[in-house]
Amino acid sequence: MTKTLRPLIAGNWKMNGLRKDLDEIAAIRDGGVKVGGAVEIVVCPPFTLLAAAASLCEGSGIGIGGQDCHPEKKGAFTGDIAPPMLKDCGATYVILGHSERRLIHGESDALIRDKIKGVQAAGLAAILCVGETAEQRSTGQALAVVGEQLAGSIPRDVSIEGLVIAYEPVWAIGTGLTPTAEDIAEMHGFIRAKLEESWPGKAATVRLLYGGSVKPSNAAKLLAIANVDGALIGGASLIAADFLAIAAAC
Ligand code: PGA
Repeated sequence: MTKTLRPLIAGNWKMNGLRKDLDEIAAIRDGGVKVGGAVEIVVCPPFTLLAAAASLCEGSGIGIGGQDCHPEKKGAFTGDIAPPMLKDCGATYVILGHSERRLIHGESDALIRDKIKGVQAAGLAAILCVGETAEQRSTGQALAVVGEQLAGSIPRDVSIEGLVIAYEPVWAIGTGLTPTAEDIAEMHGFIRAKLEESWPGKAATVRLLYGGSVKPSNAAKLLAIANVDGALIGGASLIAADFLAIAAAC
């Protein structure tokens, strides 16, 4: 199947990175410029490095994203970061609903939906994460769980153009395990079909990323799967050479 969407390779640094690690972002910028415009590259460092990362990458075509945010524009929410603040730092994307937020912080689909609204209102693009646990997969509930996450966390009253969805099976994150190509193709086809049901004619414009133990050694195979329009990378995005090798595999 010919892919028509520009692939997106996004790096999720999670709670990693000090100012000295900005060198790695500079290396991603320099190497990313060489990979060229065929692939969109985005790095999502911790909040503390966002502004510095954005200024390092300014004008390079390498995008910067946050890893979470509060739904509201501003207010009495100690410790939280609002979407306009991310934008003000130079971010253009925000990861939302990552399984570490859902499981460790108890984030619900309804909260994630409000966050997507806030992010879109600020003019940022959301990267919505969905995915099943090992138990849910082994008991045959993977599609149902992801279907529910999609239905619950994508606001009905907003455009899905610009939205990015990352399928990240919880059991594949940081474990070295990945689903079979057949299982990824089935899930991505299912996600596309679900979007088409609710937003007829628009689903084909939404990039569907795969995430979970993507490495330079398996990237080409994973990225070639039908309906996989890029990848969300955790561990391997911390090393510029690995992250760039994944981008080059697109
Ligand atoms: P991983 O993480 O690439 O380290 O498995 C992916 C993610 O959590 O987004």
